[in-house]
Amino acid sequence: MAKTRIGILGYGNLGKGVELACRQNDDMELVAVFTRRDPAGVKPLTEGVAVRSADDLAAHADDIDVLVLCGGSANDLPEQTPSCAALFNVVDSFDTHANIPDHFARVDAAAREGGKVAIISAGWDPGMFSLARLYATSILPDGADYTFWGRGVSQGHSDAIRRIDGVADARQYTVPVPAALEAVRSGENPQLTTRQKHTRECYVVAEQGADKAAIEKAIVEMPNYFADYDTTVTFVTQEELDRDHAGIPHGGSVIRSGATGEAGEHRHVVEFSLKLDSNPEFTGSVLAACARAVHRMSQEGQTGCKTLFDVPPAYLSAASAEELRAHLL
Ligand code: NDP
Repeated sequence: MAKTRIGILGYGNLGKGVELACRQNDDMELVAVFTRRDPAGVKPLTEGVAVRSADDLAAHADDIDVLVLCGGSANDLPEQTPSCAALFNVVDSFDTHANIPDHFARVDAAAREGGKVAIISAGWDPGMFSLARLYATSILPDGADYTFWGRGVSQGHSDAIRRIDGVADARQYTVPVPAALEAVRSGENPQLTTRQKHTRECYVVAEQGADKAAIEKAIVEMPNYFADYDTTVTFVTQEELDRDHAGIPHGGSVIRSGATGEAGEHRHVVEFSLKLDSNPEFTGSVLAACARAVHRMSQEGQTGCKTLFDVPPAYLSAASAEELRAHLL
């Protein structure tokens, strides 16, 4: 069978993650990486993969079955996904939850116009966590949902610390509060405030001569990011940060706690959890599986924007329907 020809647009952490996922899937072939930077300065990990300018995308529309968009959700994807969906089948990991309906509408219009299929907001949250929420709420309508993130690095919170005067570098970990997790897992259905669910740990490199007390105050009092949480700030050297905090781990748990029975006397707790050594490599692996599904949906003649909710689970798998029934059902 012909391989699915993959293109990657945007070669950051996630772009590399998709590249590594392509290597693990025999039915996929990475044919090109597209970048907005000078292609000469971008070196893929895989020998023989072409690096091209994003300006030349349109010329390669016939060489690629699915373009995987690996730009940032804040500034890149709102522009890139609709414009690429007019020319290519696409997958993105758009994760600004509040703006998903608007992003969906714009990508859907472009994909229908171009006769293409798009999957947006794939990854783990949104993505695998969304599916876990959907399955559990459909099965247990009488219940409560909880999502805990971490322990893991929040890129957005780390960036927010780096913007403070006197900060040279920083890493922020989001950490679930063990007692809150325990209470939810026991089926108590507790009402939890933001502060009761997660704490935030910050490792900060201060510039020479910077006022550390002022930096700490600016962090713990920062609205939206830290003010609603119990936050700890630890000052480290750049060497310590590079040595002890270089990875990009993440994960978390989606838990639904519900009841059935005549008087709700029987309790059920459904939990889906992830423990990821590398957030971008796992997210890239989800995007690769979605690329397979997009290619299949396109070959069937479907068009328009989809999310993981619209993808038949078997379309994500390289195995045949017969193999899946025999081994995974
Ligand atoms: P990066 O910051 O590593 O990369 C984003 C883009 O920056 C790249 O595509 C690249 O585009 C550009 N870039 C510019 N200069 C450089 C450089 N020197 N080195 C690397 N890239 C550079 O972000 P991530 O890849 O970590 O994350 C991308 C998005 O993925 C995030 O914004 C997040 O929203 C989303 N995400 C979603 C998840 C989910 O579960 N749904 C989980 C994890 C992430 P170019 O090559 O064109 O310059």
